[in-house]
Amino acid sequence: MKKKKLSQSADYVPHPRYGSEPIPSDVKGVSTETILRSHWSYRSSDIFPESVLMADTSKQHFNVFPRECYVDMRKTCRNCQRPFIFFAAEQKHWFEVLQFYVDADCVHCPECRVQRTAAKRAFQRYSSLILLANPTQDELQQLVDAAALLHAQGTLKSRERLGQLKNAALRLIPDYPGTLALVEALRNQDAFPATEEGD
Ligand SMILES: [Zn+2]
Repeated sequence: MKKKKLSQSADYVPHPRYGSEPIPSDVKGVSTETILRSHWSYRSSDIFPESVLMADTSKQHFNVFPRECYVDMRKTCRNCQRPFIFFAAEQKHWFEVLQFYVDADCVHCPECRVQRTAAKRAFQRYSSLILLANPTQDELQQLVDAAALLHAQGTLKSRERLGQLKNAALRLIPDYPGTLALVEALRNQDAFPATEEGD
């Protein structure tokens, strides 16, 4: 069987720990056929057989079939459609250390995963802080930051609520950098002529 060149495509979204190229391992003597048989997901993706790592299946969480080994695989991000690598070493971490179910699939590139985690946290923070009748200065700062992030991602659409928050921030924490950022973000989306010239 023809070997795939390791650095054929260099356009993978980089992973902060594993980089953006397949990582050759020092495991020898595992055939591509064996790798393809070791988990169904390897048969439906491009794989880099040189990267194979042996699994400790006693640490895996599975019903019927474990993953006997791991291999770097090429994936396409469900969100941004860019290619990325789901690394063998990353799979070992997922399935043996974090004990994710062994059939769990990785569908988002590293950058989208970071953004999604940040958005989830911001949304949780926003949802609890927006309910406070009298937020402290610190809570209001967190609220402004969360709102700006969620607004940038298109998650928060209520202009009225954002406008109220902006006004409260301008009144109570006018010097906070996040306040300016939120004002700018809302101004950029505004099609109307600005009405805040009086300050
Ligand atoms: Zn992505």
